[in-house]
Amino acid sequence: MDNCIFCKIIKGEIPSKNVYEDELVYVFEDIEPTAPIHYLAIPKEHISKLDEINSDNSAVIAHIYEVIAKIAKEKELKDGFRVVTNCGEQAGQTVFHIHFHMLAGRSFGWPAG
Ligand code: AMP
Ligand code: ZN
Repeated sequence: MDNCIFCKIIKGEIPSKNVYEDELVYVFEDIEPTAPIHYLAIPKEHISKLDEINSDNSAVIAHIYEVIAKIAKEKELKDGFRVVTNCGEQAGQTVFHIHFHMLAGRSFGWPAG
């Protein structure tokens, strides 16, 4: 996707702080962190939003959760962490390349604001 900011980050056309990378997934620090740890995990394949996940592309989503679990172990997030995906404008999605916010280092309220 030519105009997608996260596709540009994957290609290195926009700088980012790398946390993890493999052939399918890229994880980097959020530019405006809302917690002491705030990473974004994204598939290298452009999927706009969560309601576009289907049987053809869902394997990468399962892999993203494996990567998140691995990062949680490496960073020793024993006190817990939160994973959030906003789908659509009303839910707060501002970048239309699916992403998984990984948040840790403080308490989080529930229900979501
Ligand atoms: P959402 O509002 O759920 O779509 O989340 C988009 C996230 O992307 C926000 O938390 C932004 O701070 C983050 N973001 C936007 N541009 C960049 C960037 N260039 N580098 C890192 N994070 C970004
Ligand atoms: Zn994209």
